[in-house]
Amino acid sequence: MERPESISDPAAGVLTGNDLWHSPEERLNDQDKLYEFLEVLSAYRLAMNTINWDQTVSGAPAAGVGFRSKGYGVLTREHYRFLMAPEFRALLEKFSLEGGTLEGDIAKEWLIELNRIEKIPKDDYTEFMTYLSKSEVEWEEAKRTGDFEGFKSHYKIIFDTARKFSEYIGYDQHPYDAWIEMFEPGMTVEKLDRFFGELRAEIVPLLSGIREKLSVNPQRYDFLARAIPKEKQEAFSGRLLEVIGFDLSRGFLRESEHPFTNAMSIDDVRMTTHYYEREFISSIFSVLHEGGHGIYEQNVDRMLANTGLDGGASSAVHESQSRMFENAFGRSKAFWTKLYGEMQAEFSPALDDIPLEEFIEAINRVESTLIRIEADELTYSLHIMVRYELEKAIFEGSLEIEDLPEAWNRLMREYLGVEPAHHGEGILQDVHWAAGLIGYFPSYALGNAYASQLLHFMKQEVDVERSLRALDFGDILEWLTLHVHSHGKRLKPEKLIEAATGTPFDPWYYIQDLKTKYQERYGI
Ligand code: ZN
Repeated sequence: MERPESISDPAAGVLTGNDLWHSPEERLNDQDKLYEFLEVLSAYRLAMNTINWDQTVSGAPAAGVGFRSKGYGVLTREHYRFLMAPEFRALLEKFSLEGGTLEGDIAKEWLIELNRIEKIPKDDYTEFMTYLSKSEVEWEEAKRTGDFEGFKSHYKIIFDTARKFSEYIGYDQHPYDAWIEMFEPGMTVEKLDRFFGELRAEIVPLLSGIREKLSVNPQRYDFLARAIPKEKQEAFSGRLLEVIGFDLSRGFLRESEHPFTNAMSIDDVRMTTHYYEREFISSIFSVLHEGGHGIYEQNVDRMLANTGLDGGASSAVHESQSRMFENAFGRSKAFWTKLYGEMQAEFSPALDDIPLEEFIEAINRVESTLIRIEADELTYSLHIMVRYELEKAIFEGSLEIEDLPEAWNRLMREYLGVEPAHHGEGILQDVHWAAGLIGYFPSYALGNAYASQLLHFMKQEVDVERSLRALDFGDILEWLTLHVHSHGKRLKPEKLIEAATGTPFDPWYYIQDLKTKYQERYGI
């Protein structure tokens, strides 16, 4: 694996150790202190992540939720205290002046977070974190019963707090910007309005054209609802992860209500999926999706481990990897050419009478549906657009929480032509808001667009079709590791995309991909 290059800017004037420390020993001493702080911080992160995992995956007793959230609250408080220690800040400020060193980059990254957190009063911050660990648990029940009335007070508190935090953190133009920036540095409402505007203009008419065609000539996919026992799906999930190159000695897959990836460290990457007996492809695409996230986490340069520069460059760059594995690879005919026979054998006799061609048609069909995580490649970004517009409207104060379900249903009708009968498959379907992940949704759509651009340029150097056909991800992973994964957070999203592809981010690649694929498939 090639090491990322130092990101110093010589024109900015590079300070060296000699300018900041009296002797090399003094710098070394400070360096040790810096890494000691980072070690403690990652231990806190490990403890908090473990509690989350325990709660959402391991089935910790519901009766103990109060005790666990209290413990979580204590850890959050102590983590905060440690993070805000004046000695830590002093070290960061010193190292942040250094150019071209790993410690300099680490310090700059932590200062961004520190400066943001410092603007939020400590009590507000810990109270919010504790609140979220409870609301996330209650959301599961609300989603199951579709009880928006019972859950809306949580949304009210969460969005009111988010709005208040925006004021604390500060923003240039739009209060929502403060939250978008947390997940996608450099992104703003202004840029997203333009991005979604282009998508809306191209995809909404394309989708209605396809729906018209389908109303005359419907596609067959009933076989996707044939029952496949969970154990068989589980076995095949393991095979999928092996094929795409996820290192199963440094991570694993379990089951939860909502699929997700939790990277405790480079060597402990945990993922979940959800098995539905009568919808086996749901888990297949979840596994490929989370597998894309997991592989990213595993392939970050080891020297960045536990420094705060590990993990992805941003949520959208992370999503570009999961969506690439899920859609560009996982829905291609090349990928299934060999693998389909294996799956037929594993699931036999369920798919014995279905030829490969028919399976490929079915997994690439376009259908306006209600559930985001099961949406096809074309309609997916429309689901995101609905959420983006609602979040934006709440921040602007033009939409009340009370009116969320109605606004949701109206936008779903407008963009996708469908409307939920039950809030569990409508406004309550995603965990994000209950978990405080506001401003995260746009990352999914941006991720799709980044994936298209990255793939376009990867194909100039890698025979992707051949690799997929051979189920040999070696060249693909080498390209991704070199250009995306290894850098961790060391390159900011805009820089990463430009460095990897030689050109600034442009949604054109994504829109072209979708138009070419679906106009051809549906003869429009
Ligand atoms: Zn994802």
